[in-house]
Amino acid sequence: MDLLTLTIVNQFIAGTASALLLLLFLADTRQQYLLYWTVAACCMFVSSTLATLFHLGQPLPYWLAPALSNNLTLGIHLALLAGLYRYFQHHVRLYWFFAAALVMFCLHFTDFAQQATVNRLLLNFPVMIWINVLSLRLLFGQRDPALSSVYLAFKLAFIFNIMQLSLRFMLVLSEQTELSLISGSTLLHSLGFFGLTTFAILVFGSGILLVYRRQQLALQSSSERDPLTGVLNRSSMEQKITTELDRCQRQGSYCSLVIFDIDHFKQVNDQYGHLAGDAALRHIAAVTSAQLRSYDLLFRYGGEEFVVCLPDTDSNVANQIASRIRKAIEGTVLANYPQLNLTISAGLASSNPTVNWQQLLTRADQALYQAKHNGRNQIRQYSSLEPQTI
Ligand code: GH3
Ligand code: MG
Ligand code: MG
Repeated sequence: MDLLTLTIVNQFIAGTASALLLLLFLADTRQQYLLYWTVAACCMFVSSTLATLFHLGQPLPYWLAPALSNNLTLGIHLALLAGLYRYFQHHVRLYWFFAAALVMFCLHFTDFAQQATVNRLLLNFPVMIWINVLSLRLLFGQRDPALSSVYLAFKLAFIFNIMQLSLRFMLVLSEQTELSLISGSTLLHSLGFFGLTTFAILVFGSGILLVYRRQQLALQSSSERDPLTGVLNRSSMEQKITTELDRCQRQGSYCSLVIFDIDHFKQVNDQYGHLAGDAALRHIAAVTSAQLRSYDLLFRYGGEEFVVCLPDTDSNVANQIASRIRKAIEGTVLANYPQLNLTISAGLASSNPTVNWQQLLTRADQALYQAKHNGRNQIRQYSSLEPQTI
């Protein structure tokens, strides 16, 4: 393919990526990283437009091509890195990015840079490789299993880019040291355009994949969550508890279930109204979540009933956790309703190697019934012989 065709292909890819990323950003302007990536795609579009004009024989001043054109290629990498920083919630000091671009632009006007194309490439390549290494380092520091496949796509894009830039850098060096592996700069330019095209497809494709996967996860999370309290809802209970119970049984550890119910909750609604009742439910969910470990699961089972799944937890530890929750609820007041004394009654059951999740829940429910029957604001533990007071 001749260089003119390659630059036109690059223009088309960059134009499409700019429009797509901009539309995605406009659909949700909180996703600021998309704006940075749109800037990256725009830099590529302008730089390939300049290259097209150049190859059409249009005379361009030095400051425009190659100086600005090279700087825009650097801008692609800088904007991608800034977008990644923003995406991972790091503070982006934009002035550093602008300063780097300005310094590189000014360096194009030194005698060394003006002498030959290879000299300019020798200036640009190490900086671009370094920016790509920074992006890669950022991605390697991430541990989010739900997005690991998208991060892998990004990593591959950056690894590819580092490899193609390094290869071109070595070719340039070989030309400089007169161990010439290449004749003239046509091959170097063709490689450059191919490299940039492939990198753009990989990295912008990964960006679009990321948006899609995040939307998918947000949708999944909202279908699993109770809208009032934000904790997991009943429909996700079977699948999640079964998974945990099976894992514990396979590994020979215990899994415990706690079911609790707010005491005299009807009175809260009757005396203070349903809005107060809703606030109480949110409060209880928040206080309970604060007492749990990151791998415990909290579900809203029904109106004012909650279920806690405690993986890798025997009945003694489960009892301590349930007591902690009960005391925390008894000991905290609800904002705007300090006169309300909320308490809960709870039932607890722990697994054995053969029990299934429905049996475990039924046992915990029986223990809850005992706790209510015994006077409320207490925890009862299921035992196969007879529930005992705790
Ligand atoms: P007990 O101590 O025996 O549990 O008595 P209780 O009053 O808590 O039990 P009961 O089952 O009689 O009342 C539960 C109440 O919970 C009735 C219902 O109006 C209320 N409720 C259920 N879901 C919601 C909700 O989403 N918001 C509000 N505000 N109230 C709810
Ligand atoms: Mg109830
Ligand atoms: Mg109740």
